[in-house]
Amino acid sequence: LPSFDPRDPLGVDDLLAPEDLAVRDTVRAWAADRVLPYIADWYEKGELPGIRELARELGSIGALGMSLEGYGCAGASAVQYGLACLELEAADSGIRSLVSVQGSLAMYAIRKYGSEEQKRHWLPSMASGETIGCFGLTEPDHGSDPAAMRTYAKKDGTDWVLSGRKMWITNGSVAGVAVVWARTDEGIRGFAVPTDSPGFSAPEIRHKWSLRASVTSELVMDDVRLPADAVLPGVTGLKGPLSCLSHARYGIVWGAMGAARSSFEAALEYAKTREQFGKPIGGFQLTQAKLADMALELHKGILLAHHLGRRMDAGTLRPEQVSFGKLNNVREAIDICRTARTILGANGISLEYPVMRHATNLESVLTYEGTVEMHQLVLGKALTGLDAFR
Ligand code: FAD
Repeated sequence: LPSFDPRDPLGVDDLLAPEDLAVRDTVRAWAADRVLPYIADWYEKGELPGIRELARELGSIGALGMSLEGYGCAGASAVQYGLACLELEAADSGIRSLVSVQGSLAMYAIRKYGSEEQKRHWLPSMASGETIGCFGLTEPDHGSDPAAMRTYAKKDGTDWVLSGRKMWITNGSVAGVAVVWARTDEGIRGFAVPTDSPGFSAPEIRHKWSLRASVTSELVMDDVRLPADAVLPGVTGLKGPLSCLSHARYGIVWGAMGAARSSFEAALEYAKTREQFGKPIGGFQLTQAKLADMALELHKGILLAHHLGRRMDAGTLRPEQVSFGKLNNVREAIDICRTARTILGANGISLEYPVMRHATNLESVLTYEGTVEMHQLVLGKALTGLDAFR
């Protein structure tokens, strides 16, 4: 029998091909070099300095729009993309958010619903990280219910004129292109908006106590005039943004387990070395119970992510299954981080250790891409056939 590996107790790595392991190692090494030494400082200052350089480096390792085909994208499998998300979020949820929004929201929307010209224009520079993208769906008064959005695009001759506000938009202030969803006379449409368009601005939202190493912004659009070809021709209606969100959520199923793994590893190491009452705290049954329970949820979550990844690669992954994974893995990840925090005692609240940073980051992850309650309602509806959303 193979020996028991505390880092992989279920032997899940056996499911991975050499190419998968290579992707994982590349992203892990990049994060160890470019994020881990600095992240506590960035987090404390509430900024992500050098975000453009980081984006270019992420582009150079193929992490942007990673599972998309063509136009400079890596064409990786869903499992490989998931492994990358896990490694990035093991460093920080803010870095994973940068990559998710770029690849799974902004690039995915253009790849799936854009014209050939839009794809050629935007995707290669987004894949290389030269151009950062954002995705504007949420508004100040409309979050979980985006169908009620106010942002409006009206036709003026062949042009569109876009007006409204978007809120809590990741990458907003640093984006070169904003994929903005707006109400039109034909229904909800997506627009690829160059952020240097007159009337467009993206002030940064400050005072966040979560995802502090991530740029979050408001998008302000006052009569932004766009040419006819700014609209994404491939979709009308809420299914456009919802399909993008499903893709990004899939990455979160993996990513959340990265934050959990980092916290678990910190707690395990601490439990083996910190002594009280004359022995390592890991030698007390109560600590072992915590570690055992954390390991169960961590590795069940990773196994679930693999399962969903294989379904996505096979083309059989349903949105309800993504809801299942997002709801479970983010909720369990936050619980693992909080338990890790207790094992570290007072040190658990310090930025010298990653656990509190991950726990506070996951508060955002719990809310964005569909809140806990929204995914409970999705599953509730799928189970009962009864719609309880309104
Ligand atoms: P609300 O919808 O007002 O919900 C408040 C509470 O009410 C929640 O608990 C919710 O579950 C509950 N609730 C609402 N309706 C029901 C119901 N029918 N039944 C039961 N409970 C209900 N959005 C983007 O478009 N792009 C981004 O890049 C982006 N990045 C983000 C980054 C961060 C750091 C954060 C925090 C958010 C980001 N968001 C982004 C916004 C995010 O998607 C929304 O916050 C989320 O959809 C919830 O909307 P809300 O905050 O308006 O909460």
